[in-house]
Amino acid sequence: MRFHVITIFPNIFDSYLGESLFKRAQKKKLVQIIPHDLRDFTRDKHQKVDDRPFGGGPGMVVQVAPVHRAVNAIANRSRVLAKKRRTVLFSLRGKKLDAATAKRLARYDELVLICGRYEGVDERVATHIADEEISIGDYVLSGGELPALVLMEAVSRHVPGFLGKGESLEEINGSFPTYTRPEIFVPNDPARGGIKARGSAKKKWNVPKVLLSGDHKKIEAWRRGQ
Ligand code: SAH
Repeated sequence: MRFHVITIFPNIFDSYLGESLFKRAQKKKLVQIIPHDLRDFTRDKHQKVDDRPFGGGPGMVVQVAPVHRAVNAIANRSRVLAKKRRTVLFSLRGKKLDAATAKRLARYDELVLICGRYEGVDERVATHIADEEISIGDYVLSGGELPALVLMEAVSRHVPGFLGKGESLEEINGSFPTYTRPEIFVPNDPARGGIKARGSAKKKWNVPKVLLSGDHKKIEAWRRGQ
């Protein structure tokens, strides 16, 4: 699975992608993430990627021309069939990212992710360049870079081998509360893993009994009930 990310902040991704599962997955060549600096696709000496909105209003708008060049350059260099590539624009007006969308996008060989900035992106990118628009939720962020990381992680979890031993690819509706040792945690007793607190009665934070019962049918039923 290859991700091309078009952004004006290509270095933003280094630290997150350089750790943990993404680090391992890239080393094992399960996923490849290639940030592209939008400014490399400008033609003026100031490498301008934005301009004022037609019709007036605050802020600046990412221009269609450099995005068009970037997406074209990626497609021209790619060996992947066009139908195995999907171009996504991050936008507040997009379809809300969910598990089904992540799973669907994992079926492509290559995703091209366009990160907006400023007041947004010239609408002609949505109309003529992107195959779809995606929002990660009803709140405004300063750019599409965090949405790109969120999407890449949600999609990569579906790539065979991406998840380590400590994680499973559960479905959203298969999610249940989890506990681990100790069975009884006493928050104000240092002898029981807590921290010393004056004058307060000892409270206990217990693990639900059913989980300690060893009765797998009951445990299964309890988890479903949650
Ligand atoms: N004024 C714009 C918002 C611009 S935010 C509007 O009303 O649409 C700048 C860029 O950040 C957007 O173009 C988009 O690419 C990205 N962005 C911000 N919040 C987002 C979210 N919740 N989901 C996906 N992308 C988002």
